[in-house]
Amino acid sequence: MQEVILIKNGELAMKGLNRSTFEVALVKNLQHALKRLGDFTIRRAQSTIYIEPKSEDIDWETACERVSKVFGLAAFARARLCEKDMDVIMQNAADYLTDALEAASTFKVEAKRADKNFPLTSPQICAKTGEYLLEKFPHLSVDVHDPDFTVMIEIRDFGAYIHAPQTPGAGGMPVGTGGKAAILISGGIDSPVAAWMMAKRGIELTGIHFASPPYTSERAEQKVLSLLRKVAAYAGRMPVFIVPFTRIQEEISTKCPEDLFTLVMRRFMMRISERIAAQQKCEALITGESVGQVASQTMTAMAVTEAVCDMPIFRPLIGMDKEEIVRISRKIDTFDISIQPYEDCCTVFTPKHPRTHPKAEMLEKAEEALDIEGLVQEAVDNVRRVMVYP
Ligand code: ATP
Ligand code: MG
Repeated sequence: MQEVILIKNGELAMKGLNRSTFEVALVKNLQHALKRLGDFTIRRAQSTIYIEPKSEDIDWETACERVSKVFGLAAFARARLCEKDMDVIMQNAADYLTDALEAASTFKVEAKRADKNFPLTSPQICAKTGEYLLEKFPHLSVDVHDPDFTVMIEIRDFGAYIHAPQTPGAGGMPVGTGGKAAILISGGIDSPVAAWMMAKRGIELTGIHFASPPYTSERAEQKVLSLLRKVAAYAGRMPVFIVPFTRIQEEISTKCPEDLFTLVMRRFMMRISERIAAQQKCEALITGESVGQVASQTMTAMAVTEAVCDMPIFRPLIGMDKEEIVRISRKIDTFDISIQPYEDCCTVFTPKHPRTHPKAEMLEKAEEALDIEGLVQEAVDNVRRVMVYP
């Protein structure tokens, strides 16, 4: 008896994006997600994607967990495939779903008949299977409105599939269908969530992280890589570029007014990120900023920060409260890593009284003391590339 995973696609009805492009990307991402778990055939038919193992010894729990993190699928179910014969179907339903049926007090059967040549109609399949299961599990009774458990039977071209109710998928769009963008990733709570949110919309990610050794440690960098590994479970593998930022921060702190330090620094981050992103064929930058969270995240501060950069900057958390962001970070399992107490380059040299309503001219004036082009190019020339896998 064969086990498979049946997948219902997500936003397939969307306009503009070609359905087949969407499905091809989804299949490719599923293949990547399952790669190290064994050999699978993944095929599309009848608006469903079928994941079929080529060997017996599959770790189904891990496989389902991986599938649950692939964007672009609405729901999935682990199912048993059997012959399209009522007796075989009923025996398999009792056998495959024994644990769930024993744990339930009430149940119902739902049937879907995609193969119209099957001799029984869906209501007939339900009635017959229901009767059979009542006899096999005498403690059960039928409740069609609010059952403890629902037995699902799907009669398709290739056979009959028996499963429990579907598990919700990760939603969103398959990564890769939305183009590519660079996430400015710190070790904080926000930026990993911002990364996840954009990946959910089908965007392939490249990471950029600014490090200031010896002010920031090797462990701070490891923390960022751990965070990205969690994000990669959803977004797929990604390169991350570690930018040496010490010299720039020292230059700013010695040559610019203290109250503008953070903003001048953030403008450098944008200039450097834009250059790396363009080299990597990214179309936008992503940050974890949210209005009012810190001094550099007032509207005016963000305006003078993005003024130095032509590439669009996406800030998916812009209107979210910290609590909402924390909820997502717990869900994607980055929270516990984010709260580890390692310093970020943004927390070294921070001014006591940062400007919250800066004028563009102030920054331009402050930056006159710096060799902007030289510093940016030096940083870009010395980036280190690390590959991050889930
Ligand atoms: P986070 O929780 O993501 O660190 P935050 O609320 O602490 O965000 P800031 O430290 O001001 O805010 O950073 C705002 C954004 O700038 C971050 O969300 C991130 O996108 C980017 N950023 C901050 N520090 C770094 C860094 N060291 N490398 C790359 N990007 C950074
Ligand atoms: Mg931060």
